[in-house]
Amino acid sequence: MSFFGFKGGVHPHDHKAQTKDELTVLLTAPKMVYIPLVQSNPAIPVKPLVKIGDKVLKGQKIGDAEGMMTVPVHSSVSGTVKKIEDRPYPVMGAVVPTVCIENDGGETWAELQKVEDWEKSSKEELLAVIREKGIVGIGGATFPTHVKLNPPKDVTIDTLLLNGAECEPYLNADNRLMLDDPASIIEGTKIIKKILGVDKAIIGIEDNKPEAIASMQKAAEGTGIEIQPLKTRYPQGGEKQLIKSILNRQVPSGKLPSAVGVVVQNTGTAAAIYQAVVNGIPLIERVVTVAGKAVKSPKNVRVLVGTLFSELLDFCEVDREKMYKLVLGGPMMGLAQYSEEVPVIKGTSGLLALTKDETNAYETKPCISCGKCIEACPMGLQPLRFVQLTLKAQYKELGPANLLDCIECGSCAYACPANRPLVESIKLGKTKLRELMAKK
Ligand code: SF4
Ligand code: SF4
Repeated sequence: MSFFGFKGGVHPHDHKAQTKDELTVLLTAPKMVYIPLVQSNPAIPVKPLVKIGDKVLKGQKIGDAEGMMTVPVHSSVSGTVKKIEDRPYPVMGAVVPTVCIENDGGETWAELQKVEDWEKSSKEELLAVIREKGIVGIGGATFPTHVKLNPPKDVTIDTLLLNGAECEPYLNADNRLMLDDPASIIEGTKIIKKILGVDKAIIGIEDNKPEAIASMQKAAEGTGIEIQPLKTRYPQGGEKQLIKSILNRQVPSGKLPSAVGVVVQNTGTAAAIYQAVVNGIPLIERVVTVAGKAVKSPKNVRVLVGTLFSELLDFCEVDREKMYKLVLGGPMMGLAQYSEEVPVIKGTSGLLALTKDETNAYETKPCISCGKCIEACPMGLQPLRFVQLTLKAQYKELGPANLLDCIECGSCAYACPANRPLVESIKLGKTKLRELMAKK
């Protein structure tokens, strides 16, 4: 298969060595779990289906919401609901209603309804199961999977791309899953192919993960699912970059991958779909990479959703004295955290406990108009112009400048020799532009 690549991007040190050979280990279920009553978008509340004092089972649905753009939430332990209260959430600095459950240690599962023969099930039946089991994109964005797998009727999908690039430095959660459980990814891919009605499925993996490439090639033998090694270049795992690199198709400005006949799913999400459909297991746990120089025992940890970051950091022996910054996700697109008392959610791919010398804590200097930010942008945008327009409060002009095409990958900021806070300005510009658009 050909490799076409994409324009722009950067090549940061991948820092994968710290955990790439660490077998995935299980963190014992904590005494308390904290399940936020939100999914995908903190602005869409999920209604609790339980009250204080209720006994719940592992995998039991404890919250749901009306509407397409969200999914139910499930308990990750068996136990008793102790509180339902507002608690900090690790995304957007939000505080959201949260079900606090005391674990009884019994691991008593709710009845798991499996699909007996998914090959004979309709697309609608499979999508309903995927929603009911709370499946969202676990690569980080947590977009509802049943929505993504149901593109508009006026587009024709011919290819499924599975994203195993994991291009963010430090992270090895997808890498380990491809090594430890490739069969679940392949089986999940078959189910997605059936839902989309496509013959072609390709799994893209960066070439800094040769063991994962070999593991997936072996698991895919005889299935017709192709494995495509990708050049290691950030942000290779961006949907539009993946499509360009593998299929040489350019997703037009403002459009989704379906506009060029493609649906992209994360490899971990494919495995979660398999567990949901074939074993009836909702998405209540995931693999998280815990890394960074402040971590004494860096690990890839299988952890229950709702476990506090503090427990995960203790398990990996994080030295709080050395930790300068705590990041959810990778260093390029991750979110700085101000508290350890927030729960692991479905999109928690990594927790980085970084020392000062690992962070970008250098002085910001004046722009020297070198253009390196423009060269680095994988979306062909003009980051410097976004910043200038935002600083001058000329928000109306950000729309025609295609600000909303920015995927906030951070390549521009990484390339900037003056250490300008480009992504921060871009995020502010987006907020202001969306406020203007909402007023229309
Ligand atoms: S953050 Fe946005 S502007 Fe900067 S390189 Fe990425 S896509 Fe381009
Ligand atoms: S890379 Fe930095 S210094 Fe160079 S033009 Fe862009 S903002 Fe200015």
